Amino acid sequence: MSSSFEEALEAVSESVQEELVRANTEQEVSQIRITYLGRKGKLTLLLRRLRELPPEEKSRAGELANALKAELERKIEGALVRFYEETKQKSLAQEGIDITLPGTPLPRGRLHPITQVTAQVVDIFTRMGFQVAEGPQVEFDYYNFEALNIPRDHPARDMHDTFYFSEEVLLRTHTSPVQIRVLENQRPPIQIIAPGVVYRRDSDISHTPMFHQVEGFMVDEGISFAHLKGVLTLFIQQMFGEGTCLRFRPSFFPFTEPSAEVDIGCVICGGEGCRVCGGTGWLEILGAGMVDPEVFRTVGYDPEEVTGFAFGMGIERIAMLKFGINDIRLFFTNDLRFLRQF
Ligand SMILES: [Zn+2]
Repeated sequence: MSSSFEEALEAVSESVQEELVRANTEQEVSQIRITYLGRKGKLTLLLRRLRELPPEEKSRAGELANALKAELERKIEGALVRFYEETKQKSLAQEGIDITLPGTPLPRGRLHPITQVTAQVVDIFTRMGFQVAEGPQVEFDYYNFEALNIPRDHPARDMHDTFYFSEEVLLRTHTSPVQIRVLENQRPPIQIIAPGVVYRRDSDISHTPMFHQVEGFMVDEGISFAHLKGVLTLFIQQMFGEGTCLRFRPSFFPFTEPSAEVDIGCVICGGEGCRVCGGTGWLEILGAGMVDPEVFRTVGYDPEEVTGFAFGMGIERIAMLKFGINDIRLFFTNDLRFLRQF
């Protein structure tokens, strides 16, 4: 019995070695492990037969069987590691990088036309020495109206179609409140350009509830309307081209006195008269004026000592004229076919 057990062990040992030599893949080696060492494997079954042996042979046979089991496990493991390494080396060799292949093109984004125009406006004014300032979009009635010489019963409030949170808190309807905030916190000379988002309850082909404005102002001793005209002329010629002419029309704003609306020669027809300019040859582009003495008094300045000018314009309006766009809503519907043109 003992010798037949030992022979059986030997037979298992030999056939495992033979099969390992023949094995060509990792899978084949794994299969050998299952065939011999698995739960119903040949060596496993043989080990179970140990208990049938007479006691005097059991210990030696057990030693031999366990030694064989350990040896086979080691050999199988070794073969597996070899195949794993081989496969790895092979795939590394195959996966060499061809640096002459063209790269995968990534889709390129671009700046929104409103962002582009805002940057251009800010750039022109900062080159003239203006500094950028910003203010909150959720604003107090005081900064949006009261301090700008628009008291509660003032008819100018009707033009603003304001979104109110409460009686005192609202979404700013223009960027002019930045003027008050800066005047409160700085001392002249002051030269500020303040771009930002503003809100009004209005929506049609030329109005959106949210749009962009740029506010600019200059405050110091001896600032005159001539400074305003000089700064705006320089701006308009850099924005729309050297030959662009402009004119000032008398107007009214509660926070400037005197006030003017500024027109430029129609960029579409060159002044001949067309549908865009309504046949007049002129396009309204911004509002401006000298800071009202009442505004200066509100923020604690002496209007006898300092003067200043202020102007405000809609970025969408400028972008529409610059790019020949006839519907303001196109800017905010996020149609990529439209946005990719800029
Ligand atoms: Zn025209």
